[in-house]
Amino acid sequence: MPADPVPALLARATQALAAEFGSLPPFEPAPQSAADPDAMARVLDTVAHRLGNNYPYFHPLYAGQMLKPPHPVARAAYALAMAINPNNHARDGGRASSEMEMEAVAQIAGMFGWAGQHLGHLTSGGTMANLEALWVAGQLHPARRVVASEQAHYTHQRISGVLRLPFASIPADRRGRMDLEALETELRKGDVGTVVVTLGTTAIGAVDALDEIVALRDHYGFRIHVDAAYGGYFRLIRDVLDEPARRSFAAIDQADSIVVDPHKHGLQPYGCGCILFRDPAVGRLYKHDSPYTYFTSKELHLGEISLECSRAGASAVALWATQQLLPLTPDGEFAQGLARSRAAAVELDRRLRHDNAGRFHALAGGPPQLDIVVWSMRAPTAGQASELTRKIFLACAERNLHLALVQLLQSWFQPAEDSVDTEGGEYVTCLRSVLMKPEHEAWLGAIWEGLTAAYAAL
Ligand SMILES: *Cc1c(COP(=O)(O)O)cnc(C)c1O
Repeated sequence: MPADPVPALLARATQALAAEFGSLPPFEPAPQSAADPDAMARVLDTVAHRLGNNYPYFHPLYAGQMLKPPHPVARAAYALAMAINPNNHARDGGRASSEMEMEAVAQIAGMFGWAGQHLGHLTSGGTMANLEALWVAGQLHPARRVVASEQAHYTHQRISGVLRLPFASIPADRRGRMDLEALETELRKGDVGTVVVTLGTTAIGAVDALDEIVALRDHYGFRIHVDAAYGGYFRLIRDVLDEPARRSFAAIDQADSIVVDPHKHGLQPYGCGCILFRDPAVGRLYKHDSPYTYFTSKELHLGEISLECSRAGASAVALWATQQLLPLTPDGEFAQGLARSRAAAVELDRRLRHDNAGRFHALAGGPPQLDIVVWSMRAPTAGQASELTRKIFLACAERNLHLALVQLLQSWFQPAEDSVDTEGGEYVTCLRSVLMKPEHEAWLGAIWEGLTAAYAAL
């Protein structure tokens, strides 16, 4: 593991925080809180040992699922906030951290082009944030259908079930994007209330054509909910994306609601999602009349615009600190980190596509749209390709290279002329690499070597 700056940062900031409360009379912690330091150290030794039973998510050779370490400033700020443990349910549960939440969320809204005109807050994650978006959508269009691409996150169908909203799945094309003809067929039926548009699908990072769906909304009238839990931050570097993705990210301010997960690409510890609404008036739908929530301010507080009650104020503190250090600007260091991830994915895809030994199939529809690369093995049948893939996956792991597996339609990897119809097509197990760490660009050579060495060893 690299040297960790967090303990020193935390020691210094802890003193500064103690000084803030310097006027309080000192008190002795109860025996339970002041346990024997040796006993606590022994427990933590065991914890360290137990935590060793994990993939090394922090290392650049972990290039599998959507996992990357939080920024040191986020970890330090989160740990510092633990001395207070604020609850952002209501202002009197976390005055400072509620303000930091509103500021940090406004900065995210600004990134999406909604400076000064949004309603939003943090959530425990993308699932809760999407639940709030569909809950609002369902109240505004009761009993009308929610539709999402079959490549959308499975959570939308499940949430629609929880909310008892009728749901329909729209087929995806060979690039994993919502098929717009199929969408329009559903829209013509006249009962679609909300279209979920995914900017950055979880499987392959595909970007639905938001700009074209906005044009359909002008004609058919429906709500647009953008699920950008994974991809939202790519708005900052849309100029380096392909033309369709650039147009989709440019149109994001046309959405009615947006979800983004700071705990995915935003360098935050888990427990940090974000929901934004374009029209602040939807706040009225959250109205409640609780005798428990004390009002120490006349302003609408966060507990009044959130379905969750207790929420970690520390998440807001960590996010605020990160955005102070790394502002969400197109030319800043944060955006450069995303650009490096993107460059790593483009390079891996290029190597797969132009492999002289002809060992791999890249996506026939074209290079990745964000920083997620998928590929299948060349083999006579889908079954043999899947088996080879699983063996390579394990052989890579033995070399400390950690990739992920995903099931995709075989036709996505075949040239258009001999592609089979996607309906009912055969699935193949593929390799998947989410290259979301800024170090991945520099490590791409080592990742490629690990992959080809694993292949050679079989
Ligand atoms: C991760 C993800 C979700 C779910 O978010 P959680 O933070 O895991 O609850 C929803 N949609 C998309 C596109 C995602 O990538």
